[in-house]
Amino acid sequence: MVIPLFLFYLSGDPMYVSKYNIILDVDNHTEKILINPLSQSIDVVDEDDEVCAFLKGAGALENVKGSDRDYLLQRGYLFNEPEEEENLIRDVIRKDDREEYPCDFLLYPTFHCNFRCTYCFQSELPKYSFISTDYVNKAFEAIESISRDARAESPLLYLFGGEPLLKGKKAKETITYILQQACNRGYRTAVITNGSNVQLYSSLLRKYEVEFIQITLDGPQHIHDNRRLYANGKGTFNNIKKGIESLLGSDVRILIRMNLDSQNIDYIPEFADFVYESGWDKDNVTVFVGPYRDLLCRSYEYQLPEHVMLERMFTFYQENPATRIIKLLAWPGADYILHFLYTRELPPPRVSYCISSYGRFGFDAEGYMYACGNAAGNKDYAIGRYYPEVTLDEERVRMWRKRRVETIPSCRECELAFLCGGGCTLQSLLKFDGEKPFCPEILQNLKVAVTHYFDEIVGD
Ligand code: SF4
Ligand code: SF4
Repeated sequence: MVIPLFLFYLSGDPMYVSKYNIILDVDNHTEKILINPLSQSIDVVDEDDEVCAFLKGAGALENVKGSDRDYLLQRGYLFNEPEEEENLIRDVIRKDDREEYPCDFLLYPTFHCNFRCTYCFQSELPKYSFISTDYVNKAFEAIESISRDARAESPLLYLFGGEPLLKGKKAKETITYILQQACNRGYRTAVITNGSNVQLYSSLLRKYEVEFIQITLDGPQHIHDNRRLYANGKGTFNNIKKGIESLLGSDVRILIRMNLDSQNIDYIPEFADFVYESGWDKDNVTVFVGPYRDLLCRSYEYQLPEHVMLERMFTFYQENPATRIIKLLAWPGADYILHFLYTRELPPPRVSYCISSYGRFGFDAEGYMYACGNAAGNKDYAIGRYYPEVTLDEERVRMWRKRRVETIPSCRECELAFLCGGGCTLQSLLKFDGEKPFCPEILQNLKVAVTHYFDEIVGD
């Protein structure tokens, strides 16, 4: 993965090849795609070009035409000296430090859930009862003061769980209170739910102008009901469908997420047909697939490599245009190329992997605070408490908030560093005690995406 540091001398002038050049083969094309995420450059190179051989360390600088050399320098694939690249890195880090990042907040009213999904990653969490009003008030005090410090004007508050939209008086009263409080303070709100009781909550969600809800539906009913079950073993599909339909055409945006793996990927065309037949091809609905990720590093029998699923999705898109109603979300590497296609610019260099390194705060029902939504409930990874008062554990805060590519030795030397940002902190902690990074499948996804979008990347 690491391209060694090359220093070449031409007519007495040293030249330095960037550590962060990525050269990608493109299936069925002789050209290659050259990317430098630090310099934000992307270009097409002929396979037999001397430039390519040179950048790979297999050719001599003397063989590269003067105009090409100038172009490589101008695009930041080549520097006059290593210090130029170091200065660029320092600038990028300084900019990241100065940037004001949006804060977002996750409130976990409970870790209890009315489902027993076959792949649940929260099944071992303690099932406390519903959060008390006293704790909710303290969480709002903390959110108020964090938002003020961060100068966040209308922070986004997610209701998460467990399942936040449970049946029962206590659950409904608490959720009503939380939405009321958020609304009074001018916060934006969103709900991450299994979808089974959305129908019971739909008027409340509309009343308090919840911005969006995310509901998981794992494919057509005969697949979904095998994976996402009630505690009594019954399927959940029909109630989720009713919930979605209770919000169709409202101002609440509905995100329908399908967790993709080998058990349901074959059913994408059938699911796309179902979306159309159900009339869900509405402006306020987005259906998308995210790769199933084994966040707790257990072995999961239906897990597939992300790039294999991505390739399959692209094949569906080509062979069956109706499947394009099912979008892609959270596919690192492919996201990068999609950003380029929408804007014709590469994203800024990424120095951290996710929002857990910036301004995310999760609040559980026991008074603990977390930097990562998926770490919630595991007190070993809490960054502090918000009840009775906000107290942060500085060492834990550093562990999450200061994790950046330049502080992780193997990332600093990795060609993908400024595209990746250092990988998921939680997986690094769970799998390697934080001693080394957990590399996402970014390079493989990138290669699949540049192959699929080659013509659009090249443009006219
Ligand atoms: S640390 Fe990992 S699991 Fe947590 S928010 Fe970031 S990417 Fe997701
Ligand atoms: S986590 Fe990302 S930047 Fe770090 S070594 Fe792995 S792929 Fe490279």
